[in-house]
Amino acid sequence: MANTGSPCNAQPTLPIISDDKAHGQPLWLLAELTYKCPLQCPYCSNPLDFSDFGGELTTQQWLDVFQQGRDLGAVQLGFSGGEPLVRQDLIQLIGGAHEMGYYTNLITSGVGLNEHKMAEFQQAGLDHIQVSFQASDESVNNMLSGSKKAFEQKLKMAKEVKAQGYPMVLNFVTHRHNIDRIDRIIELCVELDADYVELATCQYYGWAYENVEQLLPTRAQLERAERITNEYRAKLAAEGNPIKLIFVTPDYYEERPKGCMNGWGQVFLTVTPDGKALPCHSARMLPIEFPNVTEMSLQAIWDTSPGFNHFRGNTWMKEPCRSCDEKEKDFGGCHCQAFMLTGDMYNADPVCAKSEHHHLIEEARERAEAVVNNPDEFTFRNERNSKVFAKG
Ligand code: SF4
Ligand code: SF4
Repeated sequence: MANTGSPCNAQPTLPIISDDKAHGQPLWLLAELTYKCPLQCPYCSNPLDFSDFGGELTTQQWLDVFQQGRDLGAVQLGFSGGEPLVRQDLIQLIGGAHEMGYYTNLITSGVGLNEHKMAEFQQAGLDHIQVSFQASDESVNNMLSGSKKAFEQKLKMAKEVKAQGYPMVLNFVTHRHNIDRIDRIIELCVELDADYVELATCQYYGWAYENVEQLLPTRAQLERAERITNEYRAKLAAEGNPIKLIFVTPDYYEERPKGCMNGWGQVFLTVTPDGKALPCHSARMLPIEFPNVTEMSLQAIWDTSPGFNHFRGNTWMKEPCRSCDEKEKDFGGCHCQAFMLTGDMYNADPVCAKSEHHHLIEEARERAEAVVNNPDEFTFRNERNSKVFAKG
């Protein structure tokens, strides 16, 4: 299944479409309904200054956006956030999207969910619920999420997802504080009878980038986790267990970047709580003026807005990407990563070994070898800390 690019730090896996200035249709619409969330994960990919953004779109505005997305050809709709359950109109949004013909996916921490709501959502047409965990150990999970009850609640809701007949999709963001327990994470997923498990190594955007020192695993941790995952895959397959374990390595241990959203403005469209339309859920950080759905139709945003056309095609590329024979594979990598690490979004993603800035990635890997795990050093994602970032 496609990964959804949720604030719970996943990255999308979508079909590749690329050509100079040509663009496909937005197959995937990610509706970030709110930046509010009862949890405070230090790896959240929401913007650091989320507390500074304007009011949320109304129910009717969201329904208009969904219809416009459907008219453009979008088929999958993810409800994300923050925590989408915070929105009191979620059931109306699910029902509206279902009637429009979307395949709908609720991306949630499970906090705020109960059996009754889950059944109502199903009646309204919700197709899929993805529950995210912070860890397989109650104490680590609760430390990272900032809630003493989160783990128990997640377990309960994960069981209920299965009991109500939804596909069971679990998401674990892994990092140096939980990756050594990958065996226990997988066992927990087996106990919960999961269908799909995303073992998504943290990607460093938003709050995760702020906390990269305390999150980035060592190479040895990562290799061990991948080996154990492969052993479980073989063992579970031999037992006839159809569970799918999806292991995502962090960019920081690659020598080539991933293609940015499988092509900027090609198949993916995010709308933020206050209506900004983005070609990628991290792109808000870039020095680009992105359009707002309250001011422009989704069709105009997708086809003609400068924001969505900014990195379409190859003409924006500098060396080494411009003359690189791999540019149709990765489109120069992630512009947000280039911007965060080098200050210039037109640079090649420093993850690439051909980049003159690749040493920044190598230095981060070296620092990971020396770091001592210390949760006191986390900057947690919460309103108070966000206000500090917003003030600058
Ligand atoms: S704080 Fe955690 S649960 Fe809340 S949106 Fe961010 S990653 Fe998801
Ligand atoms: S030089 Fe640019 S296009 Fe070539 S592999 Fe590296 S990031 Fe991709």
